[in-house]
Amino acid sequence: AKDQGRNTYQFYTEGMQDREVMRLELDKDLSKALANEEFVLYYQPQLNLETGDITSVEALIRWQHPRRGLLSPVEFIPLAEESGRISDIGRWVVMAACRQLARWKKTPCENLRIAVNLSGRELDDEYLVDHIRDALAKENLSPDQLEVELTEEIFIENLEHNRNQLNRLRELGVQLAIDDFGVGYSSLAYLRDFPVDLLKIDRSFITEVTERHDDAVITRAVINLAHNLGIQVIAEGVETDGQLNFLRNHRCNLAQGYLISRPIPAADLEQALEEGILV
Ligand code: C2E
Ligand code: CA
Ligand code: CA
Ligand code: CA
Repeated sequence: AKDQGRNTYQFYTEGMQDREVMRLELDKDLSKALANEEFVLYYQPQLNLETGDITSVEALIRWQHPRRGLLSPVEFIPLAEESGRISDIGRWVVMAACRQLARWKKTPCENLRIAVNLSGRELDDEYLVDHIRDALAKENLSPDQLEVELTEEIFIENLEHNRNQLNRLRELGVQLAIDDFGVGYSSLAYLRDFPVDLLKIDRSFITEVTERHDDAVITRAVINLAHNLGIQVIAEGVETDGQLNFLRNHRCNLAQGYLISRPIPAADLEQALEEGILV
């Protein structure tokens, strides 16, 4: 039993070492990824349930790693947050989204809004709002073509700073969405105290919304609460027709999920909208 214990321990530490080696390696690669233009944005359509149109898309970052292939953000965003590289990545995301919006002028994608994800760490950056303003101006865009998705973590620390940042973003005219709503340290006070345009109900409530009474009750209550406060609602992780019908019947404004489309490269999105195959 003693031997076995030691073996298990060895195995465990080797696994830890591998992970640490991989982490250090990725972190080193990350420092070159921006300069080498290895990041790419995929776009996932958001369906307007009132009109049946695709009116917006969420930009989701991917890393085309020279040796490891296409990496998911869950594999490198936490790393970038730790090392502080996240603010440079965030600036790139904003700029890339604005460039894309400019390229879409006079195409079937012309009226799309792009939602970008920003972590709490990125909101710390005093110059973030200036950068967004500059990016919009450089590409001659109307600020309401851009939306920023933030998670509830921003309502826990640096409350005064974050409120100020949100107010500045609101003054600029970009749309503000609360991502993963309902799973963080939710406090209803922030719906009152912060300028929010959109709530994004977390996927964990949607997955079984047609099977579980509690998920259905919560989803309906969030929709009603938001609407009574003048806030729009989007559901994420919609994978079935049943979920889509439920959301439509309960007046959810927008839906996003694999049922409508996975996140896809810009060229694929353009083609899909041109051929009208998404709606
Ligand atoms: P998120 O913002 O909650 O994004 C939704 C995630 O759910 C995406 O994963 C998307 O591909 C996935 N998804 C969409 N529809 C469905 C569905 O119907 N079913 C299921 N099972 N999943 C679905 P992805 O692209 O791997 O992104 C993961 C997370 O990485 C994002 O979660 C977001 O927190 C973060 N992230 C992505 N892009 C960026 C970025 O540019 N900046 C920052 N800071 N974070 C980002
Ligand atoms: Ca998001
Ligand atoms: Ca989300
Ligand atoms: Ca989520």
